[in-house]
Amino acid sequence: MSVEQAPVQRADFDQVMVPNYAPAGFIPVRGAGSRVWDQAGRELIDFAGGIAVNVLGHAHPALVAALTEQAQKLWHVSNVFTNEPALRLARKLVDATFADRAFFCNSGAEANEAAFKLARRVAHDRFGPEKNEIIATVNSFHGRTLFTVSVGGQPKYSDGFGPKITGISHVPYNDLEALKAQISDKTCAVVIEPVQGEGGVLPADKAYLQGARELCDKYNALLVFDEVQTGMGRTGELFAYMHYGVTPDILSSAKSLGGGFPIGAMLTTEELAKHLAVGTHGTTYGGNPLACAVGNAVIDIINTPEVLGGVKAKSDRFKARLEKIGQQYGIFSEVRGLGLLLGCVLSEAWKGKAKDVFNAAEKEDLMILQAGPDVVRFAPSLVIEDADIDAGLDRFERAVAKLTQG
Ligand SMILES: *Cc1c(COP(=O)(O)O)cnc(C)c1O
Repeated sequence: MSVEQAPVQRADFDQVMVPNYAPAGFIPVRGAGSRVWDQAGRELIDFAGGIAVNVLGHAHPALVAALTEQAQKLWHVSNVFTNEPALRLARKLVDATFADRAFFCNSGAEANEAAFKLARRVAHDRFGPEKNEIIATVNSFHGRTLFTVSVGGQPKYSDGFGPKITGISHVPYNDLEALKAQISDKTCAVVIEPVQGEGGVLPADKAYLQGARELCDKYNALLVFDEVQTGMGRTGELFAYMHYGVTPDILSSAKSLGGGFPIGAMLTTEELAKHLAVGTHGTTYGGNPLACAVGNAVIDIINTPEVLGGVKAKSDRFKARLEKIGQQYGIFSEVRGLGLLLGCVLSEAWKGKAKDVFNAAEKEDLMILQAGPDVVRFAPSLVIEDADIDAGLDRFERAVAKLTQG
């Protein structure tokens, strides 16, 4: 069956790929649970989860079954037709959340693009073209399309590509007074990550999100929660808004939603959804049967007391050990985050050196993440075995020991 393929190696990357990434020096070829193997057969423990995507680890049997079963049946029909997996997944998301309607797409950026376009459309329809301003937060991350980098609060991602989308301002995160000072009748949406992920794993204060909700109501603005990173069980609730008890008008999801298969979703109410009438927005692959079949299997497993409850216990296990490592080696000033989205803030002496920690971990056969230059991030599978947590943290401690003892 399988056709003989020419061998490839890491060096090929620099020959054939656009150099916008700088991947690690090895090529992963196989994964199972929270273990990954490279071309040379080296076994790594995975605390990165493909950047908060592999929510059930690698090659989870239920996801493999869902994907292969669907692959035998129907891959793609486009949105000229609907399909069973998409309808089932939408029903599950609607039943489990504040939302009445789902729009499917293929990534987080696309989910946010839909969210921002919907917010502008609603304001345009209800109040006219003047009400088009979007308020987002400094250091936020919403994706890499032009609209989403413009809303994102990191100039390094938005500068140098010509004119940005206009009508967007950025206020400091977790600063309700700043939001209060900026919001006006021209504001159509306030966009917030309940935990800033890429920006450094910084959780919102409850009072901040509650205050943002009240301000949005007062100014007829929509509250958009970007839950691309925090959603699908990552924080120990299906979505982080449930943890905070603050309900958005629009929510974007992606990453963990497909457990490694590309899919994104925008969730909203029936009243708002109406504004995206036939023909106003779309994407060829959105609601693709393969992606939705996997998404169905993901939510069936994630949205259970066993898995969500397990996140809290595993989070505590991680945190306790990370705090100990931080103290012993003086490398972290703080361990923060929610559930299994954890960030270790580097202490003054180690500021800017998250990449060094990443490299040291890789040498000890451990995959971790950064969240900017000052924060080491962990986003493992939600069902990672305790034994893998302990073994991975042993490796992490060895890496930190070698790094700090030079
Ligand atoms: C990753 C991420 C995105 C972008 O998702 P893509 O699938 O890379 O387009 C958007 N928002 C947040 C909060 C993210 O973490």
